Amino acid sequence: MFKSIKSKILVFAILATLIPSLGLGILSFRQNEAQISDNVTRELRTLTNYARREIELWIEKRVHEVQVTSASSVIIGGLTVADRPADTRGKSPAAVSHYLRSVQEKLDTILELTVVNAAGEIVASSADAPASITIPNNWPQKRVIAGPHWNERYATATLSIAVPVLSYGDVLMGALVAVLDLRDMQPHLKSKKSPPPGEVLLLDSEGRTLVSSSANVRELMQLDAALLRSLGAQPESSMAFQGLTHQHVIGLADVVTERSITILAERDRAEVYGTWIKLRNIFLALVAAMVVIVAAVAFHLGRSIVVPLQRLIRAADRIAGGDLDVRLNAARNDELGHLTRVFNEMADRLRRTHAEIMAANEAMHQQNQMLARLSITDSLTGLYNRSKLDSILTDQLARFNRSERPFTLLMLDIDHFKTINDTCGHVAGDEILTAVAHILLQSIRSIDFAARYGGDEFIIILAETSAEPALKTAERIRSEVEDMRYVVNGSSIVVTVSIGIVESQPDDVTATLMFARADAALYEAKRAGRNRAYSAC
Ligand code: GH3
Ligand code: MG
Repeated sequence: MFKSIKSKILVFAILATLIPSLGLGILSFRQNEAQISDNVTRELRTLTNYARREIELWIEKRVHEVQVTSASSVIIGGLTVADRPADTRGKSPAAVSHYLRSVQEKLDTILELTVVNAAGEIVASSADAPASITIPNNWPQKRVIAGPHWNERYATATLSIAVPVLSYGDVLMGALVAVLDLRDMQPHLKSKKSPPPGEVLLLDSEGRTLVSSSANVRELMQLDAALLRSLGAQPESSMAFQGLTHQHVIGLADVVTERSITILAERDRAEVYGTWIKLRNIFLALVAAMVVIVAAVAFHLGRSIVVPLQRLIRAADRIAGGDLDVRLNAARNDELGHLTRVFNEMADRLRRTHAEIMAANEAMHQQNQMLARLSITDSLTGLYNRSKLDSILTDQLARFNRSERPFTLLMLDIDHFKTINDTCGHVAGDEILTAVAHILLQSIRSIDFAARYGGDEFIIILAETSAEPALKTAERIRSEVEDMRYVVNGSSIVVTVSIGIVESQPDDVTATLMFARADAALYEAKRAGRNRAYSAC
C-alpha cells in the first residue's frame, strides 16, 4: 500500500504533523488538567474550612442562647417547685411551658425547648409532644450536643443541644434541651463575599444530606457509603464521583467526628473542565484541520514529484522498447526539470548515435554486398568467377543426384586468341573477352549460369537441360559470336569460339570430373577445326 513515493510522503507528512502536535498537546493538556485539579481542590478545601468555622460559630451561638435561657428564673423556679409540696410551689410546669414557647417563638432557629429534671423526666416543653430525652451517663457536663439527624416531625434536619440548669447555689437541677433547625445554618455554609465556586453540603454519619448551600439538592439525598468512606480517607485530595448537586462532580470531604457530620464540598465537573474540554476540542479540530491541510500539501507535493517521474519512467520504457522518438516537456525549473532536460539530451544523443549506427550499418551492408559480389565475380567480364563456378557446379551436381534431372555444361574457348592479342593488342583482347561475355549473358535464361573459367575460356551451365537443346543453345552462341564484328584500327575482326558440351552423368562425382569431360569435348571441337560445338553425348 505504501510502496509509492507519493504514499510515503503523505504518511510522513501526516505523522510529522500528528506526533509533535498531539504529543505537545497531550502534555500541555495533562499539565493543565493537573493544575485545574489542584486549583479546584484548593477551592473546595477553602469551602470546607470556611463551612467548618461557620458551623462551630453557629453552634456556639446557639449554645450560648440556650445557656442564657437556662439561667432564667422561670426555668429554675419550674424545676424547684417540682420537688416541693404544692403550696410552696413557685412556677407551675404550665407557666414554664408558656415561657419556653415564648422564647422558642422569638428564636427562629429553635424548634423545641424542653426542660427535664435531674432524673431525665420532662418537666415542661414548648412542644405539645416533646421528643423523649436521654440524659447521658456522664452528666453533669457543661453541655451536650447530639449528632444532627433528619427530624421527621419537623421535616428538617435538627441538632439537639442540652445545657445543665443549675440552682442559684450551683446545684444541678435538670437540663434545658433545645432542638435546633439546621436550615438556619444554610446561609452560613458559604461566604457571602465572593466565595470560591462550588456547593457545600452537611451530611450525617450515614451520608444523608442535612443541609446544603445549593437549592438544587433535594433533602434526604444520600451519598454512597463506600464513597463517603473513601472521601473521608483522603481529606486532602479531591475525587470525581456522582454527586448530590450535579451528575458528575469533583468533591472533597471534611469529616468532623466530634459533631458526627461530614462537610462535603463539590463542584460540577462539566463546569470545572468546560473551558478545558472546549479548548481541547478546539485543539483537536485544529490538529485535524492541520492534518487535512498538510495531507493536501503533501499529496500535491507527492504528485508534483511522482507524475514527472512516472512520465520519465514511461519514456525510459519506450526507449528501452526501441522507440527513440521521445521528447518530454521540461518547463520546470527544479531538479525534476533538470532531470527531464538531461533525459531529453540523452534521448537526443541516443537518437543521433542510433542514426549514425544505422547509416554505418547500411554502408557496411552495402560494402559487404559489394565485397560478396566481387568475391564471386570476374572483374573483367562481370561473369561469375572460377571459385563461384566451382560451388555452382557442385550444387548442380547435388541437385542432379537428388532429382536425376540432367543439366548441361558448355565449355567455350576463343579460337586463336593468342593471335588476336598479338595482332590487336591486349586491350582489344580484353574488350573482345567482355563482348563475348555479354553475348553469353544474353543467350542464357535466368536459371542458367555463365562464368569465366580462366584466360579465354568460359563455362555455361544450362539448368535442367539435356544435351540436345544445349547443343542448340551452343550453336546459337557460336553463331552470334561469329556474327559479331569487332573493329580495330579500321579493320574488322572475326572472332569465333569452340564449344564442348557435356550432360551431367551419375559418374560425375566431382566438379573436376565434369570439367575434365567438358575439356575433352572442347578439345574435340578444336580438333575438328574450331568454330563449332561438340557434344560429348
Ligand atoms: P586455340 O585456338 O587453340 O585456343 O589457340 P589460342 O591462341 O587461343 O590458344 P590459347 O587458348 O591457349 O591461348 C590463350 C591466350 O589468351 C593466352 C593469353 O595470352 C591470352 N590471355 C589469357 N588471359 C587474358 C586476358 O585476360 N586478356 C587478354 N587480352 N589475353 C589473355
Ligand atoms: Mg583459345
